[in-house]
Amino acid sequence: MASKVTEEYGTLVFNDAVMQERLPRPTYKELARVIKEGRRLDLDIANEVAHAMKEWALEKGATHYAHWFQPLNGITSEKHDSFLAPRGDGTALMTFSGKELVQGEPDASSFPNGGLRATFEARGYTAWDPTSPAFIKDEVLCIPTAFISYTGEALDKKTPFLRSTVVLNEQAKRVLALFGKHPREVSCTVGPEQEYFLIKEKDFAQRPDLIMCGRTLFGCPPVKGQELEEHYFGAIRPTVNEFMKELDDELWRLGVPATTKHNEVAPCQHELAPIFERASMAIDHNLLTMEMMKLVASRHGLACLQHEKPFDYVNGSGKHDNWSIAADGKNLLDPSDTPEENLQFLVFLTCVIAAVDRHQDLMRCSVASAGNDHRLGANEAPPAIISIFLGDDLAGVVNALINGGSYTSHGHEVFDVGVPQLADVVLDTTDRNRTSPFAFTGNKFEFRMCGSQQNLSDANMVLNTAVAEMLDEFATAMGGLEDGEFAAEALGWVRRTLTEHQRIIFNGNGYSDEWPEEAARRGLLNLRTTADALPALLDPENIEFFARYGVLDAAEAGARYVAKAEQYAKLLNIEANTMVYMVRHFYLPALYSYSGDLAQTVATKDAIGIKSPAERDLLAELTEGITTVTGLADGLEAKNAEAAAVDDPGLQDDAYRDVVIPAMESLRGAVDAMEQVVGHDYWPFPSYNTMLFYV
Ligand code: ADP
Ligand code: MG
Repeated sequence: MASKVTEEYGTLVFNDAVMQERLPRPTYKELARVIKEGRRLDLDIANEVAHAMKEWALEKGATHYAHWFQPLNGITSEKHDSFLAPRGDGTALMTFSGKELVQGEPDASSFPNGGLRATFEARGYTAWDPTSPAFIKDEVLCIPTAFISYTGEALDKKTPFLRSTVVLNEQAKRVLALFGKHPREVSCTVGPEQEYFLIKEKDFAQRPDLIMCGRTLFGCPPVKGQELEEHYFGAIRPTVNEFMKELDDELWRLGVPATTKHNEVAPCQHELAPIFERASMAIDHNLLTMEMMKLVASRHGLACLQHEKPFDYVNGSGKHDNWSIAADGKNLLDPSDTPEENLQFLVFLTCVIAAVDRHQDLMRCSVASAGNDHRLGANEAPPAIISIFLGDDLAGVVNALINGGSYTSHGHEVFDVGVPQLADVVLDTTDRNRTSPFAFTGNKFEFRMCGSQQNLSDANMVLNTAVAEMLDEFATAMGGLEDGEFAAEALGWVRRTLTEHQRIIFNGNGYSDEWPEEAARRGLLNLRTTADALPALLDPENIEFFARYGVLDAAEAGARYVAKAEQYAKLLNIEANTMVYMVRHFYLPALYSYSGDLAQTVATKDAIGIKSPAERDLLAELTEGITTVTGLADGLEAKNAEAAAVDDPGLQDDAYRDVVIPAMESLRGAVDAMEQVVGHDYWPFPSYNTMLFYV
């Protein structure tokens, strides 16, 4: 769309400009207040907004509306209802009321709920989140909503996240007031970088593992992997470029500020990064982006894989959560060179550092999933240990604060007892440590442990609440000070808090073998798998922490644990089932055919007196392979059945981690070994060699 980008941008969004144009002035002002200040929306206003929204949507060709929400399984859900209202005389109107805008009632009993509603009332409702604008997708007016039970419990990922933004706003305002600042709103900003793979749709359609599980469960190493380092930032091939251009067009119309696109490290892996936005919008936009990627890919004969580990032997995909806090749009993690503002910067920086250290377990838990377990700690993504990278210069400043004394950067002293000139220090920080799970990158933090298919609500909910808690502690500690005492007291608090939490700062190589040992000495957690990480949600201290800030009550936290624990077991159960299915119905028959043909050859040669020792050896190997694969598939089936029958979610997850996953790995090993020796025409599925290099 090149020349008309600015004309097309956001045309499918009921955004601020459209609202200003289409709503009566008082209605617009009231709605703006609701959005900015988180007020309640009254029904008269809702009726006017609904009417304007419907008229606009009809002009854009929409026929239906849908409450678009984010259930606990992390994907988005929608049910389409038409605007149609038959009049009884054979004609019809198109109607949409305020009540329909504000609230929907999906039959909620089929969504994961962690047992929340089973206990009481099996219905739920969706409520409009006016901080995220409605948009049109394929002739449907989509209304971003929160999903809540009739007893008021959050059944989705958005609600607790929105609650965490409220707490962050409150506590940050208390802190800023100490600096004499009174912004209208403090919010968090997010810029999610999304990684994904593109392969040919026809290859995708042939592989049950990709269809059922989103990742390959079998496949021997390709003859070439990513070792030549030629793909990262390489020239984008025409098919992929066509896909990317169309994706940009679609996203821009939806008001998603997609801006950067490039090839990633693995063959056929790519990345898209948008310009950051207010977090609730950025998260919605990321989910929309993921949906659009799949849709647009299929228009180009491609399949977009968003699983964290679609292919072994090459990198998996993550989603970097670039995060900061802004007061009326001004970034609070942007260091400046005036001493007072630097003190403020140091307070916020310290709060983030302490928050991450104190809540390592919840941070890790927020990105835990069966898919992401393949990446974390696998030498391609940050380890499962949470630590913070500050860069040498900022770490130097922090050290000087902890130990007293001065800090010299680039030949000039930037730090003594006061806090001048931090801007220089941080802007000079060019070091880009890719191995750190949580890195300061100049004016924001980048949480790099998130998985490519995850909804960022969980990670940001934990982060916002943890930072809010530290801001709360700081503001409380500064209460009742005399005039003139604040700066010294605040700096004292910064020093003490940094000292207490300095173990979390690590600027070294997170991929090295020494780091887990060093981290253990520091007392940092190393929760390697999802099964290890999820129980954090049941820890009484964590339950109290979420409840204290009204982000999750005990029942909601418990339900989230159950939903995640079940999800882990269910995904692994499906993977194990798929493996057994593929082996019995495809791989073993392929091995029978190939070895059968070979046996025929050997017998024929024997009959005419020609020796065939190589064929005989191969035949023996194949026959042994058939025995091994059969035994391992039977074993996996039995172990999976046993794990699937365990009642307690924690014990069940342990069984999957300790018994089923190793059995899956053994079976894969045996099948992959056979792939190495079986003829191409006999092998039932496209190989890594085919899938990874043809797009
Ligand atoms: P990288 O070097 O990590 O690939 P990119 O420039 O591709 O960096 O992506 C950085 C992301 O961080 C972008 O999405 C950008 O909009 C986002 N970002 C920049 N500033 C902020 C901020 N203040 N808050 C949140 N995200 C931000
Ligand atoms: Mg990044």
